[in-house]
Amino acid sequence: MASDIYLSVIVPLYNEEESVGPLHASLKNVCDDLRVKYEIIFLDDGSSDDTYHKLSELHDRYPEVRAIKFRKNYGQTAAMAAGFEHAQGEIIISMDGDLQNDPIDIPRLVDKLEEGYDLVCGWRKDRKDKLISRRIPSLVANWLIGKITGVPIHDNGCSLKAYRAEVIKKVSLYSELHRFIPAMSTLAGARITEMVVTHHARKFGKSKYGISRVWRVFLDLFLIKMFARFSVHPMILFGLLSLPVFVLGLICFLVLISSGLSGIVLPSVVFLSFFLVGHFVTMGVLGEMVLKTGDYRPEIMLAKTTIRENDTHK
Ligand code: UDP
Ligand code: MG
Repeated sequence: MASDIYLSVIVPLYNEEESVGPLHASLKNVCDDLRVKYEIIFLDDGSSDDTYHKLSELHDRYPEVRAIKFRKNYGQTAAMAAGFEHAQGEIIISMDGDLQNDPIDIPRLVDKLEEGYDLVCGWRKDRKDKLISRRIPSLVANWLIGKITGVPIHDNGCSLKAYRAEVIKKVSLYSELHRFIPAMSTLAGARITEMVVTHHARKFGKSKYGISRVWRVFLDLFLIKMFARFSVHPMILFGLLSLPVFVLGLICFLVLISSGLSGIVLPSVVFLSFFLVGHFVTMGVLGEMVLKTGDYRPEIMLAKTTIRENDTHK
């Protein structure tokens, strides 16, 4: 969509009625000072409090404010994905709606992006969250994410980030993958850097996540690793999985014919092993066919098709 909007700020909100007013006021201050055409997209992720009502009032008063409401709570990743989809600016900023991120950092993030990056990640170096339930799990998770994905960003979970729209719009987000945007964007060929940002303690309401997020982060980490390695050739994954089963079946088969043993166990193992190998191979072929015929393209393939039309912005 052609538009002359330069900056889009996207903010997911789930039951943040007290924060909406102050957040908009400080966002407006900062964005007005930038002297560029901008929009603020608030995404109400199915709040049951007064959040959407407050957003509607802001939308009625300020033409640059857009509000999108989900019918139910779909989660922060879905809200961010909708924000990226609807954003019209060439640069997008994402941030939390609970006043923990500070709009004051936006100009520096934009400047950094304009130095020639596609993604600038905020780093809450002086993070104002609980030590045991937040900061320590986050340190471990970020270290692990860095090791496994090979993208050594200090603070993957910081929502305050700046993106070049043409790049982030190509990254498909689902599950809770908003925490893996740096790794996903790298797969799409993005040039990434990070910058220390301000962080405040939560003033109103409460956090929407408990300690169970640790497990979900592990699952998503596994998923993204699989994606990075096997999304272009699913056959390789299924081929690798079938290898030990094939070896087991072969050994049992050789024992069976050389020893002449009778009984039900060994022939059953042989039959099941070869059946499973056939199953894996079929899955691999199906995966390859889906990839070749579907309209889904993994980030790693997009990297090859990224065309940067020009390098001058503003
Ligand atoms: N959020 C959301 N949907 C959810 C959970 C969270 O839109 O299902 C929003 C929330 O309103 C906030 C941001 O995502 O603006 C970060 O959530 P939260 O502050 O609870 O996370 P934390 O800072 O504790 O990591
Ligand atoms: Mg928060």
